[in-house]
Amino acid sequence: DLDGFPQDTNPTLPDEPAPQRANATLFMLARNSDITGVVNSIKQLERRFNHKFHYPYVFLNNVPFTKTFKQRVLELTDSTVEFGLIPREHWIQPDWIDEEKAYRARQRMKSLGVLYGESLSYRNMCRFNSGFFFKHELMQKYRWYWRVEPDVKFFCDIPQDPFVFMEEHDKVYGFTITAYELRATIPTLWSQVQRFIEDRPELIASDNAMDFISSPHGLQYSACHFWSNFEIADMDFWRGPAYTAFFEHLDLAGGFYYERWGDAPVHSIGVSLLARKDQVHFFDEIGYQHENWMHCPTSSQAWADNKCTCNPLTTFDKAAGSCLTRWENTMTGQQ
Ligand code: GDP
Ligand code: MN
Repeated sequence: DLDGFPQDTNPTLPDEPAPQRANATLFMLARNSDITGVVNSIKQLERRFNHKFHYPYVFLNNVPFTKTFKQRVLELTDSTVEFGLIPREHWIQPDWIDEEKAYRARQRMKSLGVLYGESLSYRNMCRFNSGFFFKHELMQKYRWYWRVEPDVKFFCDIPQDPFVFMEEHDKVYGFTITAYELRATIPTLWSQVQRFIEDRPELIASDNAMDFISSPHGLQYSACHFWSNFEIADMDFWRGPAYTAFFEHLDLAGGFYYERWGDAPVHSIGVSLLARKDQVHFFDEIGYQHENWMHCPTSSQAWADNKCTCNPLTTFDKAAGSCLTRWENTMTGQQ
C-alpha cells in the first residue's frame, strides 16, 4: 500500500558535498490520465537537472492519485515525492458565481471555437493555478517552486541551480517563453486590472513592467503573458498582501468563469505590476518545449556547454507570436 507517503529515499552520500539548495519544490498539477506525459517530463527533468540537486516533488490533483500513478512516478527519482489532494473549496466553482450566466458564457465561447471554451474543469484549473496552489498544505513549507507539466521537454543540461540564482538576485518570477494570449478569453480582464489600480494604487510597484503588459502605457492589455506551464517563482510573492488583494479582486469580478481567464495572464499581469521589472527573469539557457512552442538558447556557448539538443534556429523567441522583443525593450527602457 502506498498511502504512507511522504517517503524520503534521498541517497545523498556523506562524502559528497550537498549542493547549495534553496527551499524549493518541483510542482506538478496532473490528472491520473496524464501519467505517460508525467513520466516523460520527470525523466527529462531528472536527467538534465534534478539527479544532481534532489529537489523534492509535490504532485497535486483534484481527485486522489491512483496507486499506479504514484508507483510510476516513484520509479523515476530518488527525491522525496509527496502526492496531495486539492481541497474541494480550492477547486470548484464558487457558489457566488451565477451558473446560468457562466453556462451561457461557456456555450458562447464554444460556438466561437475558442480552445477549452466549453470546459468547466479547465476554468477550475486556471483559477486554482492563479490563486490556490501555493496555499495547499504540502506547499506551505516551501518558498520557491518550479512548475512542470506533463509532456514538456527540457533540451539542455541545467548545471546551475535556478532557485539559488533567483534568491541571490532578488528575483520573484522566471520564464522561458512569452506569447500573446487569445483575446477572446479575457475581454474584460484589463478593465478589472484598471479598476484594481485605481482602488489600490499603493500596491503598484515603482519601476514595474507596465510597458510590457500594456500598450500604450496602462490603456490596454498588450495581451503578452509569460507562458505559465513553465514557471520558477517565489510563492511568498503570491502569498503576499499585494497579489492576494489582486487575486481576490479578479476572483470576485467572476472572469475565471464568465470568461476564461488563464493563470498565465493573471500571473503575468500580477507580477508585471506588483513587482519591479528587474525581479522578472528570462531563463535563456533553459531549452524548453510545451506543445508546439519551443525555446532554445541562442548563445552558442550556452548551447554547447549544456549539451542542448534543440535547434536554435527554430526557437520561438523571434517568431511573430513571441513577446520576447517587447520584454527586452521594456527591460532596456526602449518601450
Ligand atoms: P494547456 O497547457 O493550457 O493546454 O492545459 P493542460 O491540459 O496542459 O493543463 C494544464 C495543467 O493542468 C497540466 O499540468 C494538467 O495536467 C493540469 N490539469 C488540467 N486539467 C486538470 C484537471 O481537471 N485535474 C487535474 N488534476 N489537473 C488538470
Ligand atoms: Mn499543457
